[in-house]
Order: sequence, then C-alpha cells, then structure tokens
Amino acid sequence: MRTIILASSNEHKIKEFKEIFSNDQVLSLKDINYTEEIEETGETFLENSLIKAKTISAYLKEKNINASVIADDSGLCVNSLNGLPGVYSARYAGGHGNNKENRNKLLNELKDKEDRSAYFVCCLVEYFPNDTYIHVEGRSDGYILNEETGDTSFGYDCLFFSTDINKCFGVASAEEKNSVSHRGRAIQKLLKEEKAFLEN
Ligand code: IMP
Repeated sequence: MRTIILASSNEHKIKEFKEIFSNDQVLSLKDINYTEEIEETGETFLENSLIKAKTISAYLKEKNINASVIADDSGLCVNSLNGLPGVYSARYAGGHGNNKENRNKLLNELKDKEDRSAYFVCCLVEYFPNDTYIHVEGRSDGYILNEETGDTSFGYDCLFFSTDINKCFGVASAEEKNSVSHRGRAIQKLLKEEKAFLEN
C-alpha cells in the first residue's frame, strides 16, 4: 500500500480523495502534523499547486517520510473579466474565504457585461519523493447567473450554471456535480497519467 499526502486541510477534498484512492493510504496535513499556512503567491493554478506540493515534500524529507504528495489549486475564471477571479477566487473581495462578499463582487463586476460565460479550473500536481512530478488540469464550463440559486455554502456554486448538466451547481447533487466538475475531471485525468507514469 502506498502512502499519499494530500496537501490540504479541506475535509470535503480529503474525503473525496480517500474514496478515489481507496487502495492507498491517504493522509491529510493534519495527519502529518503540518500546521503552517502555505502562502499561495503564484500567478497560475499550476504555480500555486507546485508551491504547496514542494513545501510539503520538503517537510516529509525532513521527517524521513517516504511518500508522494498531491496538491491542488482551483478557481473560477470569467471570460469577460479576463479570467478573473482566477487564482484570486478565494480572496476576490479582499479577505480569504468570504464566499458571500466574493460573490457580491463578482455580480457587481458583471452588472454591465453581456458575456457571462465562465469556467472552473482545477490543477492537480502529484509530486514524487525523487522530485519528479506530473500535473493535470480539469475544466468545467458554464455561465454566471444573475442571482444566487440553491446551496450557498461553497464558493461560487450557487452562481454557476453548468452547461454540462444544465443546472446550477448550487442545486446539483454531489454526484451530478462530481461527474462534470473541474475537480472530478482533473482526478480522472490524474489517475490515467499516474498509471502511465508509474508503468514507465
Ligand atoms: P481551492 O484553491 O480549491 O481551495 O479553491 C479556491 C476558491 O475557488 C474557493 O475558495 C472557491 O471560492 C472557488 N472554488 C473552487 N472550486 C469550487 C467549486 O467547485 N465550487 C465553487 N467554488 C469553487
């Protein structure tokens, strides 16, 4: 059994990864006693994922733990806003993680825009103990609604109408969302890439 460290403290993501990598031991940052904040100073999703993966991989080496790291970075890109909020999705309105304020800012920025098309992106990096890595990107397309619809608990879900499932993520079931989501697609791609990489 392999050990994979997921460079995240988000319970939702940890559960999702544990289900998918059920043949491996998946540990969170909490499980390895890593408590420091990792600053996401990159300008792309890949840069931020790599910052997290490399930071945790170095920490594992210090502790003599031989394990791979999976790190992710995701966000919402709006075409008429030149890809914003993008890597700033979690802190679009200023402070980190204020979903309601972030959504209000987005609605305000889009007030006079005709084009409301948007997509979610998820970049995943799997970083191996020998300092090699693979990375993939998943994308999910749709557009931004004029008002919040359904569950308001996660990021921009209640403003994002998915053209894959023809409903807002705010009213989609977890299964419906996962089947087309940026994260779901990135994970499926990673599984394929990883298989090819480990076979070579
Ligand atoms: P993270 O880097 O995956 O933690 O995501 C950064 C931010 O992007 C989150 O705080 C959310 O605002 C937004 N985001 C990413 N994925 C989703 C999603 O599936 N639904 C809604 N918002 C999301």
